[in-house]
Amino acid sequence: MVEAFEIISGVYCVGGSQLSAPEDASVYLLGDPDELWLIDSGCGPSLPAVLQNVERLGLDPQNIRKVIVTHCHIDHSGGLAELKARINPEIIAHRGDVGALEGRAPQKVAAEFYGLTYHPVQVDTVLEQSQEILYLGPQKITLQHVPGHTPGSIVAWGDFPQGRLLFGQDLHGPLHPNWGSDEKAWRTSLRQLLALEADILAEGHFGVISPAEEVERFIQGFLFG
Ligand SMILES: [Zn+2]
Ligand SMILES: [Zn+2]
Repeated sequence: MVEAFEIISGVYCVGGSQLSAPEDASVYLLGDPDELWLIDSGCGPSLPAVLQNVERLGLDPQNIRKVIVTHCHIDHSGGLAELKARINPEIIAHRGDVGALEGRAPQKVAAEFYGLTYHPVQVDTVLEQSQEILYLGPQKITLQHVPGHTPGSIVAWGDFPQGRLLFGQDLHGPLHPNWGSDEKAWRTSLRQLLALEADILAEGHFGVISPAEEVERFIQGFLFG
């Protein structure tokens, strides 16, 4: 196992296949010691390991105030129910995936794919727009709807001193009818992500990709591959 690490100042990777459990998609943490946000939660059983990674960075998991859920698949969302019970952060997700997250569409969380049981969670803040802006202190974070892999897939991005950082999970897909995937929407979403010209891409299953040319090549590889 690899240790949690800082990507840029105030942005960390605290979970993932090498950091918490083989089934986990990457879990990212950002903010300052008093207000922390998580991007996704891992697959569920690994949540204690994810929180331990937060502590190892010298940060208090009780200060996790928000969780941005990139989409409903269990490798990203399975830890939400326990996180809610232990810490009670605000759970933020797009309307398109709320039914799955809240347990009303079991096949959409892809639990059987991982051989895990999904524990539903109530979503506190339901995103309805194609873009919504949040502030973490002075730091502007844009949440952008990128349907395709699932109907409610979102990315988060912000402009930091080190460049534009894009938290984009499962940009590669895959696409599956059980999940409500939509190839046309997925291609449109990938083009929108290319247009962001991110300098750093914090991905779900491929780690952290930079600089900008590498991010562009990575996204183009799925679009034109
Ligand atoms: Zn997925
Ligand atoms: Zn995934």
